[in-house]
Amino acid sequence: MPLNIHHLENEIIDQYLYDENSTRPWIIGFSGGKDSTMLLQVVWNALKKIEPFLLQRRIHVVCNDTLVENPRIVKFINKTLAKIQETATKDEVPITVHQTIPVIENTFWVKLIGLGYPAPNKFYRWCTDRLKIDPTTRFIKETTANNGEAIILLGTRSAESSNRAASIKRHEVKGLRLRKHLLPNVFVYAPLKDVSTNELWQYLNQVPPPWGGTHKELVTLYRNANSGDCPLVIDDTTPSCGNSRFGCWTCTVVSKDKSMEGLIDNGEDWMQPLADIRNFLVETRDNPEKYREQVKRDGTIKEGQWGPYTAETRAEILARILQAQKAIAEIEGVELITHQELVLIQYYWYRERYFFKNTVSNIYNGIYKTDFDMSKQEEKFKQEVDLLKMSCNQEPKDVELIHDLLALQKTKTLLIRKRGLQSDIDNRLSQFIEELKKPGKD
Ligand code: SF4
Repeated sequence: MPLNIHHLENEIIDQYLYDENSTRPWIIGFSGGKDSTMLLQVVWNALKKIEPFLLQRRIHVVCNDTLVENPRIVKFINKTLAKIQETATKDEVPITVHQTIPVIENTFWVKLIGLGYPAPNKFYRWCTDRLKIDPTTRFIKETTANNGEAIILLGTRSAESSNRAASIKRHEVKGLRLRKHLLPNVFVYAPLKDVSTNELWQYLNQVPPPWGGTHKELVTLYRNANSGDCPLVIDDTTPSCGNSRFGCWTCTVVSKDKSMEGLIDNGEDWMQPLADIRNFLVETRDNPEKYREQVKRDGTIKEGQWGPYTAETRAEILARILQAQKAIAEIEGVELITHQELVLIQYYWYRERYFFKNTVSNIYNGIYKTDFDMSKQEEKFKQEVDLLKMSCNQEPKDVELIHDLLALQKTKTLLIRKRGLQSDIDNRLSQFIEELKKPGKD
C-alpha cells in the first residue's frame, strides 16, 4: 500500500490531542538525517492542522552532539536547528530545540588521550553510552522529572534493516501505538515504522520542510556521503552506531568510514587529515604491543591483555589532532578538540603521573607557535596530586575518589555551568559505595 501521508498525519493528530495524559511532552530525537527530518516534518505539518488554542503539549526537539561529529554534518545540522527554532517561534508552533553534549569527563578525547582508553572496536565499545546514550538520557530524565511522564518520538522504520524490524517487533505492544521505554514513565512512539525508504525519499523530494528552504542540501549530503542515518540513540536496542552513516568522524568501530570517504571523494578534500587520524587510531588499537602499556590500569599484567595507551601514544594522538585542527582552521568554526578538554587531559596526565617531557601546553605551543600558558594550572594540579597522596597514604582508593570529585567540580567550573554537578557527584559517590560493597572490599 503506498504511503498515505494524510493517514499518518491524522494518526499523529489523534495521539497529540487524545492521549490519556494531556500534559506529557513529546521529545523528538533529531539527528539531521533523513528519518528524523521526515518525522519532524510530518509532526509539524500535522500540528498545523490543529486549532492553535489546542496546541498545549510541548514538543522538545533534541539533538545530541558527541563533539566528534563529522564537522561537515555539524555545520548543516546547526544551520537546520537554528531555522527550526526561529520558524517555530515565529509561527507559534510549540517546539523547542535543545542540544545535548557529553559531560566533559566523558568526551572521546578526554577518555582516549587523558585516560588512555584504546580506540573502540565492537567488543570494547566504551563510547556509545558516554557520547550518545547518557547525554540524551539525562535530558529525558530531566524532562520526565519536570512533567511526570514523557513520550519519545523516534524516526525508526522497519524497512531500514532487518535488525531494526526485529527490534521494533520485540518492543511492540499489539494494538498500541506506544511502547514502554526502559526508563520509568517514558514511552516510545515510532510513527514512521511502516514507511519504506523509497516512500521516505519521495516525500522529502516532494514536500519542502515547514521550517523553510528545501531538502536539497540533505539529499546532496546523503548522495556524497554514501550514507545511511545515525538516529538518536536512546538505549542499547536502538540500532545506530557501527554502520555506514553520519556518525563520529573518529569511529573505529566501522571497518571503513564510508561517509567520510564519500565526502572526500566528492570534493571535501579538507577532511583528509581527519581520515588520516582515524586510520592512525585504528593502527594504535590493532598494535597494542607498540602503543599500549603492558600494565593494566588495576596494576596487573596479564598475558594477551593490555593497559592504557602509553604517554607517548597519547601525546602523538594529541599532536596529530592539533596539527589537523590548525590545517583546517580556514574552514569556519571547525574545532576538533576544545580548550576545556585540553585542560582536563593535562589534569589526568598529572593524576597518572605522566610527567613526561611534553605537557599539553608544550604540544599545543609547538604546533600553534603560541604561548598557551597552562603553567599555573599545571603547578596547581601537581600540588593537588602531591597533597592528596600525602594525606590519603593509608587509603589510596580515596585518592581516586577525591580526584574524580575534584575533576567533576573543575570541569563544571570550566564550563561556567554547574547544572548537574550535584547528580554527577551523587553518581560517583554511589559508584564508590557499590565498589566498597563488592566481596573482598572493606
Ligand atoms: S559512532 Fe562510533 S565512535 Fe561514535 S559513539 Fe558510535 S561507535 Fe562510538
